[in-house]
Amino acid sequence: MIFPLVSNERISETVKNFVKTNHFPHAILIEGEAGLGKRTLCSFLAAAAVCESGENAPCGQCKGCEMLKAGTHPDVSVTALQDKKKSITVAQIRQARADAFIKPQSSPRRVMIIEQAHTLNEQSQNALLKVLEEPPGQTVFILLAENKSALLQTVLSRCVTLSLTAPPTEVAFAFLKKQNPKADDKVILQVLSAARNNLGRAQALLKKKSFSKAYTAAEEFLDIYMNGGRKYDLLKITVKVDKDRALANEFLKELKFAVNLKLQSSVSNVAVLSKLVRLNDLITQRTPLLATNINLALFFSGFVSWL
Ligand SMILES: [Zn+2]
Repeated sequence: MIFPLVSNERISETVKNFVKTNHFPHAILIEGEAGLGKRTLCSFLAAAAVCESGENAPCGQCKGCEMLKAGTHPDVSVTALQDKKKSITVAQIRQARADAFIKPQSSPRRVMIIEQAHTLNEQSQNALLKVLEEPPGQTVFILLAENKSALLQTVLSRCVTLSLTAPPTEVAFAFLKKQNPKADDKVILQVLSAARNNLGRAQALLKKKSFSKAYTAAEEFLDIYMNGGRKYDLLKITVKVDKDRALANEFLKELKFAVNLKLQSSVSNVAVLSKLVRLNDLITQRTPLLATNINLALFFSGFVSWL
């Protein structure tokens, strides 16, 4: 199996090294904000730990890899947030601690995954610490956390930490383009900028944007405005978003975003620049009015008349 995350080369090397030396640390912490690929990396690591093919682990094809994929591997346990709970409970950690001592049945190791480890309170972390201090022979703990600063220093010191990072823009762009060949290049760049290259988040935004009424209307509006279109044509666009306050707000947000993106790429053209600045200022001045109970049609006719 190919390492599943784009960029993050150092982590890829570290994992390859675990496999090559056939030595997995007793506790691995995968850290990174939502959308960076914690779960993807965790699955890959768990597969590498239970795979039966030795140096080629994870092969993706052996019985161990197959069972892991199906979620039925007897040597892999997952501790996760229970419904409506804000944190993993100390009882769950005690259970995981007990399970960690069960000898693996079919694979070389037992893997204990603890999701949302950043939600563990001090008592739970101390309960976990006991097993991390004297880990049972073949057990590998994989902790997933959005931010390692939520964990006690004593826990951290027992873990090998793998911190995920967002890829550089060119890499992220190429990845999203490959996944979404029909998506507009400009839109891909826009979502990447909004998501600070976090691919999970960018992918979600892209999905949302391709269906977003506000986004399409904002793009059309800006296009007509920049090409010197009539106010009547601009109003025809705003009519599409003036029936709903949330939609109107979203429209202005998308418009501001599109204007700013254009501003960054139009620095040399003074006429274009001043037109954009004018629209940008108007959005900034007028948006607070939407928080009042102003009539939306009136709001937009006022907005367009100032352009
Ligand atoms: Zn395998």
